[in-house]
Amino acid sequence: MIWLVIPVQVWVVEEEDGVTLVDAGLPKMAKGILGFIEQLNAGPLKRIVLTHGHADHVGAVEHIVKGKEVPVFAHAKEIPYAEGKILYPKRKKLEQNLPNGLTQSLYELAGELQNVGSLKPVYTPGHSPGHVVYYHELDDVLLAGDLFTTRNGKLHQPMPMFTGDMKQATESGISAINDIRPKLLEVCHGKTIDNPFDGITTYINQMEKTLKAKLN
Ligand SMILES: [Zn+2]
Ligand SMILES: [Zn+2]
Repeated sequence: MIWLVIPVQVWVVEEEDGVTLVDAGLPKMAKGILGFIEQLNAGPLKRIVLTHGHADHVGAVEHIVKGKEVPVFAHAKEIPYAEGKILYPKRKKLEQNLPNGLTQSLYELAGELQNVGSLKPVYTPGHSPGHVVYYHELDDVLLAGDLFTTRNGKLHQPMPMFTGDMKQATESGISAINDIRPKLLEVCHGKTIDNPFDGITTYINQMEKTLKAKLN
């Protein structure tokens, strides 16, 4: 199991009415996540929002919502891939990571994704077809899922092996940071980055170098 060597993070956001869980990690994380929410004492779990439907982000969903009325949201484009109806780009087998019909589409009004709890979803396709990131305005934090990985305090591309369209993912990443300029960036696989906008030029240069290397 390759997942064992990759750190996996999820986020719990305190809301007025309880808490929002952003992503749900691996199946074995269900107990730990539920325990953490209980210990936080900030009210009940009100909703789960997903950055995308890869197994390491949704594995514990089913267990966590069991016996509860907790809605689960993802981008409309991501749901058929995560439910095993469409093949994820670059994959050989359908993946049923989420049970059929459990996940609802994020609300969209006049082409714009609507806030869920205190979070603003931003469509950032590439790593997967319906990848979204969530911006928490009050804390000025961008919860970026697999839009980037981070190493040594620097932004890096998402893991190539699991990324459907790297060019699109890179462009999504650059425009999200440029538009939002958050104080903090959180990724699922890696440590927090302060002021990610400061590192965006390095990131762009790095990308151009890899691209050139591939062409030569
Ligand atoms: Zn992923
Ligand atoms: Zn991941």
